[in-house]
Amino acid sequence: MCREKPLRMNEFALPTATTKLVAVIGDPVRHSLSPVMFNAAFRTLNMDWLYVALPVKLGSSRAAIDGIRALDIAGLSVTTPHKEAVAAAVDQLSPVAMKLGAVNCVRRNGEVLIGENTDGKGFVESVRSSLGIEPENSNVVVVGAGGAARAVILALAEAGATVAVVNRTKDKAEKIVNQMAMENISTSGFESISDADLIVQATPLGMRNDDPLPFDPNLIGQGQTLVDLIYHPQRTPIAESAAARGAQIANGVGMLLYQAGEQFRIWTGEEPPLHVMAAAVGLDLSQNTGE
Ligand code: NAP
Repeated sequence: MCREKPLRMNEFALPTATTKLVAVIGDPVRHSLSPVMFNAAFRTLNMDWLYVALPVKLGSSRAAIDGIRALDIAGLSVTTPHKEAVAAAVDQLSPVAMKLGAVNCVRRNGEVLIGENTDGKGFVESVRSSLGIEPENSNVVVVGAGGAARAVILALAEAGATVAVVNRTKDKAEKIVNQMAMENISTSGFESISDADLIVQATPLGMRNDDPLPFDPNLIGQGQTLVDLIYHPQRTPIAESAAARGAQIANGVGMLLYQAGEQFRIWTGEEPPLHVMAAAVGLDLSQNTGE
């Protein structure tokens, strides 16, 4: 039997024939917090959308993008190891995704797939909202030169911060400075941490119990802020040491949420319910700042 009106989400919030599907591709991806976070937001706003995790092997990014086209999937989050390959597989890139050569979000404009990168914007929004830090007045040191660091460096520099990049492998830091070619981005040594207003820890050091500290905590003290992009554990040893020395600290929860919130906005045009999204995955936004 045909119904005149399309079916809406039923009382158990199960998908129907009209449900819009969004997904994350990655490998590994079964650990991803995104489905729980986004589906909580859709349910709260009573939206007929569903978000799923799709494991996609290295080398299959282009096939996955073809699948998105064929299946009329409404939007895509992209995680490791596909961010660069998806940038090459979509039809257009936002200016930021083009500069980073990496995509973490795909949106549709009809048949056209557009690659975006929300990581840097998410980071800047989180430090503005949670920490009251205005990048245009800040002297920042970013420790690390991987994908997350690149997104944060570009967003901070475009927001007017003075950014020094410090990395174990100096060549990688120099490559970022040369590629981004902005007057307010330079390389530096670890000692520059002591003069920074904001220090961003963008290496994986601190995720494992036996990791060494990413830098000497004696370089940090009162009047400074350390944001560690790691959020598992909620407080890394370097963040603990910085807090003990009087610095303000925050973890990567803010960036995680705000970059997801930006993806939500891009796909749906609605404002994301960030506290609902955080609570759904057991993240406490109020824990994101420390004295
Ligand atoms: P990545 O591309 O693999 O980059 C890793 C960076 O860490 C490189 O600069 C690397 O230095 C440095 N590094 C790795 N091991 C090191 C060691 N033993 N000693 C010194 N430096 C070391 O990683 P990524 O994707 O940028 O991610 C970095 C961190 O950010 C991860 O912890 C990730 O979980 C976190 N992250 C958080 C969010 C969020 O939303 N909060 C988003 C993305 C990533 P070399 O150049 O010398 O190898």
